[in-house]
Amino acid sequence: MYNKKSMKAEEFINHEEVLRTLDYAEKNKNNLELIDKILNKARPVRNGKQVHCEGLSHEEASILLACDDKSVIDKIYKLAEEIKKAFYGNRIVIFAPLYLSNYCINGCVYCPYHAKNTHIPRKKLTQEEVKAEVIALQDMGHKRLAIESGEDPVNNPIEYILECIKTIYSIKHKNGAIRRVNVNIAATTVENYRKLKDAGIGTYILFQETYHKESYEKLHPTGPKHNYAYHTEAMDRAMEGGIDDVGLGVLFGLERYKYEFAALLMHAEHLEAVHGVGPHTISVPRVKKADDIDPNAFDNGIDDETFTKIVALTRIAVPYTGIIISTRETEQVREKLLKLGVSQVSGASRTSVGGYTQEERPTDTEQFNVSDQRTLDEVVKWLMEQGHIPSFCTACYREGRTGDRFMSLCKTGQIQNCCHPNALITLKEFLEDYATAKTKKVGEALIEKEINNVPNEKVREILMGNLKEIENGSRDFRF
Ligand code: SF4
Ligand code: SF4
Repeated sequence: MYNKKSMKAEEFINHEEVLRTLDYAEKNKNNLELIDKILNKARPVRNGKQVHCEGLSHEEASILLACDDKSVIDKIYKLAEEIKKAFYGNRIVIFAPLYLSNYCINGCVYCPYHAKNTHIPRKKLTQEEVKAEVIALQDMGHKRLAIESGEDPVNNPIEYILECIKTIYSIKHKNGAIRRVNVNIAATTVENYRKLKDAGIGTYILFQETYHKESYEKLHPTGPKHNYAYHTEAMDRAMEGGIDDVGLGVLFGLERYKYEFAALLMHAEHLEAVHGVGPHTISVPRVKKADDIDPNAFDNGIDDETFTKIVALTRIAVPYTGIIISTRETEQVREKLLKLGVSQVSGASRTSVGGYTQEERPTDTEQFNVSDQRTLDEVVKWLMEQGHIPSFCTACYREGRTGDRFMSLCKTGQIQNCCHPNALITLKEFLEDYATAKTKKVGEALIEKEINNVPNEKVREILMGNLKEIENGSRDFRF
């Protein structure tokens, strides 16, 4: 029985409910009257300075996904753009992944780190190596990391992960600092989540890969990850352990995208219903080529057009949730999706263990092929030229605005009083410390223009003071 408040995976991601939803969506995909009603429900409503968005249920969003009427798709894109602008303005938060270890005891068939891959070199960073990687990342200008590690209780126990987090936060190289460490490690116990919380992590990210139980079990034939319920219920344990920012994700290409999309939204509805706070972020990776992995071996790959529609509908369905896109995607795809709802991108990523300290991007231990291989400076310049403000902001987490405190600020539209000036402050730091002359020139002009878009006069004044002080050598201001 479907029950979004249940703590059992098979009840809150109920297979029959997903099938019923897809059937209903298929039957109503040309019901233009209903579709208009759904689109109207999702529109931002303004009340004075506040903006509110209702979002959509998994059933409503699935109807829109099933519809292939060109004029409806255009309306979906327009609405996604409108919601993106209302809540995120033109800011894009930047982060980088840091691979700690590729030792793994699982058998995931889409990942080259699977235990049966005997020819891939296995590496695990020592604390000295973590330090060197972090310095290299700081020297590029990164402030926000997502640490990644395979599952291996002997080689990468929780103590190792905690030690790495401690090392990362402790490094202050020149004006650099990593101010937020998000963590992407295997599903674990409440006790371990509590330890991660105490170590000061930002978001706990765990991709579901696929919500389809039968496929899930086939795609994860061996290792602890084979347990569908344990994996799917991980976010509830994380929240029980005190982590209130959690990041969901599906690996598109493994199962039918309509199934995944409906189930992903059901997962978000479950978190909201049980914990009073939905997912902080949703990631939308697609299966990519890697060492012994051929994406063509998976039948459910999606084209760029379908992928774009999924991102736009995610933006409409869960307006307060950040959407993350990685360097798995090309510059062209990223450019299009940024307008439609993506709020975070990775930049200059190296998806191998120890990759940032190498002159050339090493490929021997890569988890996936990087499509966008530009430097961080190039990504920052490109974003600005596309009309976005690259942001290295980590203020909310550091001010304790997480979970429902973050969401309530976000839902009342107040978050925008912080995000815009914070984006300009952290961009200014990047320009002063890491940018090339060309990027700096583009950035200075952008900041000059964007100062005027801070509506509150007092905030504008403080911001201008902070920008001046950054020029004089001070760092780390935030609203
Ligand atoms: S996806 Fe994660 S758990 Fe699966 S093999 Fe790769 S590193 Fe291991
Ligand atoms: S102020 Fe908060 S929500 Fe806005 S960009 Fe910074 S960390 Fe994110």
